[in-house]
This record gives sequence, structure tokens and C-alpha cells, in this order.
Amino acid sequence: MTSVGAVTRQIAALEITGNKPTTSSSSSSKTTSASSRSLHTKQPSQNNVSKLLTKFAAPNPYTTKPAQPSSLRNPTYGHSKQPSTSDTTTPATKPARTAQPSVDIGRYDGGLEEENEKRGERVYGEAAEQLALDSSVSRKCPTREWSLHDFDMGRPLGKGKFGRVYMVRTKDPKYILALKTLYKSEIVQNRVEKQIRREIEIQQNLRHPNVLRLYGYFHDEKRIFLMLEFAGKGELYKQLSKHGCFSERRSARYIDQMADALIYLHGKHVIHRDIKPENLLLGINGELKIGDFGWSVHAPGNRRMTLCGTLDYLPPEMVEGKEHNEKVDYWALGVLTYEFLIGNPPFEDRNSVSNTYRRIAKVDLRFPSNVSAEVQDLISRLLQYDPQRRLPLTEVLTHPWIVRHRPQGVVRESMA
Ligand code: AMP
Repeated sequence: MTSVGAVTRQIAALEITGNKPTTSSSSSSKTTSASSRSLHTKQPSQNNVSKLLTKFAAPNPYTTKPAQPSSLRNPTYGHSKQPSTSDTTTPATKPARTAQPSVDIGRYDGGLEEENEKRGERVYGEAAEQLALDSSVSRKCPTREWSLHDFDMGRPLGKGKFGRVYMVRTKDPKYILALKTLYKSEIVQNRVEKQIRREIEIQQNLRHPNVLRLYGYFHDEKRIFLMLEFAGKGELYKQLSKHGCFSERRSARYIDQMADALIYLHGKHVIHRDIKPENLLLGINGELKIGDFGWSVHAPGNRRMTLCGTLDYLPPEMVEGKEHNEKVDYWALGVLTYEFLIGNPPFEDRNSVSNTYRRIAKVDLRFPSNVSAEVQDLISRLLQYDPQRRLPLTEVLTHPWIVRHRPQGVVRESMA
């Protein structure tokens, strides 16, 4: 990730003034693993870099408010600072342009145009209306329309199911973002118009340091573009594949951040329903970012019966086709903890899907001998057959295994 290194170096060279520190949670990359299993290497403390990258890599609440569309206006980095999710009221003033660093966003490969020639078709009718998604005109008070011309294109970050993702910089004001493209015709072919709309609507209203921000979106004839927070350290899944598993310390810090983010989401009546390493990204300081809301439901007081999510992370009530609620995410957190530590999910059976189902329904949970009793306790309390008996997330935050590994000075708002 050379360009991220370049970003970090350039930003490190800048002077920080007048920024409040973020209340962001722990950074696994700042630590050395205590476990002999971990290959995680120690990295120098990057506090200043993180503040600056927060300031420049994504819109920051603590800087002079720039004149910008509401979708990029008054963003916040930490839900505790921002009671309202509405971001339409901040007065606009000129940004301090001299403070903008020249961040290396890498080389653009022309992939968007190339892909657009070959891929996707125009969509018509109801589907076209459903997918005419534009954050700048969807508010009561229209701001400005976005288009591809508003961005300097940088390096490719990855390819998703519906299109490519690029590192980009907005031209005015200059912010680093990830721009994700989605081909409308493919969304229609997969019959996920509603799901995509829902994902976008949900994500745009969320403000938490461990939830990937969606700053805005726009569309053209064939594509939808999502302006996402740039996750500087990429996919957590890649880290897990590289290392096989994580140390207890690193795992505990991720689970601490996940629990805090889930408390926030559930407080907004958002059930994630598809928690797994593949849906998690890492910020520039290695902080966890929940990044995919494809299966999320906004369900105030609602019980759901749709079978969804990933097999290994499904709880018994979903496997058995029963109603479910936000406690499905408690179960998934237990599975995630297990997979972080052991390297594979607890009920996996690579030869037989039905056996995995059976093991989930029986809660056939086994631990290798090298796993501490403390974390076995946490996992066992989350992986309870009866959803009501699963350990509440607030108690995950106070569990000895989590508390013991939490870096000094990190305070969880949701514990208050
Ligand atoms: P997705 O379509 O979300 O699966 O994204 C495809 C790939 O692009 C991911 O696997 C990541 O490697 C990368 N990516 C997506 N979103 C971001 C982001 N916000 N920041 C950095 N990389 C991203």
C-alpha cells in the first residue's frame, strides 16, 4: 500500500493545530501482540498522523467548516460528539485552503471509463427511478450536484460485485475518499434494487468511528457512485488470511470496537445481520470499520424472518427459520471472536453444509486447548442457543477479557 504510506508520510510532515483528538477506539496496529501465535509486528505510534488523516482524509468536525454540499457538511467522527444525524444545518464558511496537504492518491488506471465502455446497460422504468440515487437532491434543501468531474481520480482500491472502487480526492474542498461504483443494470439483474437503496439509506445516516461513513452519492445513466470514507489499511479479511489468526490482544481490541459499533447501530434500530471478516475494513490506524450494510435492516421493534447472511455466522434461530432480532448480531460477534482467535469459524464443516447447520443448531462449540478460559467464557456467553440468554453488548464491553486488553485512556461512551 505504497500510496497510503505516502499519504502517511506527507501528513506526518504537517503541523497540527487546534484539533481535538478523536475519541476513536483502540488501534491494533499500534500494539505488539502478546501472543506467540501472532505475526503482528509492532508499529510506531501514529497519533499525530491519525489526527491529520482524520482531518484531511475525510471531512472532520473539528476544522473550519468548508462550503460544501450537505452530504459532506458537518460530518462527525464519533457518535458521542453528535447527537443528531441530520447534517443540513451547519453554516458554510470558506475552508482554510492553505492547510490542505497534497496527498498522493496514486495513479489512476483509466479503469472507470474502460469498464463503462464494456459493462452495464441503461435501465428504464421503475428500476431507473429506484436507482436514481443522488444525495444532493434527496434533501429538503438541495445543495449541489456531484459528478465525476468533481474528483481527482487515484489508484484502484478493489473490485466489488457491482463495480470498482477508487481512491479519489474531491477538488473543492480537497478530501480523500473511496469512490465506489455500482452498475445499475447488474443491480437490477440481481434484483437487489431495494436492498441497495436500503444499504445506502442506512449507511448515510450513521456516525460512529467504527462504522464506515458514507458521505454522499450520485448517479449517471448506468452507474451509482458512493462517496465513502477511505479505509487506509484496507480489508481486515486480508490481514486475517495473512496471519491465519490474531493474538488475544488484537482480537479483543477489534471485538471491543465491534461491540461499541453494534450498540450504536442497535440504538438506531439497525440490525447488521451479516457480520463477518469480509465485511470489515481497517482505518489508517488499524481501527475497525464496519463497511457493508447489504443485509442490514432498519427494524424498529420489528422481528424478521428472512434467511440471510453468511452460513458460518448464522445463529440457530435463523438456521431454524424462526423469527430473529438484533440478538443475531450478538451471536455473530461470538463467531467473529472465535474466528479471529482460532482462524476459522466455530461450526465450520468444509465437507458438509448440512453438518454446519446441525452444529449451529446444537451449539456444538469446541475450543482448542491454547485458548484462554477468559475468552472461552466470553464466546460461550455470546453463543447461546436462546437469543435472550446471550451476553448483552454492554456487558461485552465490561467483560474482563475485553477490559484487560483495552488500551489505557480509551473510554466507551456506550458504557456510561
Ligand atoms: P466492495 O465492493 O465493497 O466489496 O469493495 C471492493 C474492494 O474495494 C474491497 O474489498 C476493498 O479492498 C476495497 N474498498 C472498498 N471500500 C473501500 C474503502 N472505503 N476504503 C478502502 N478500500 C475500499
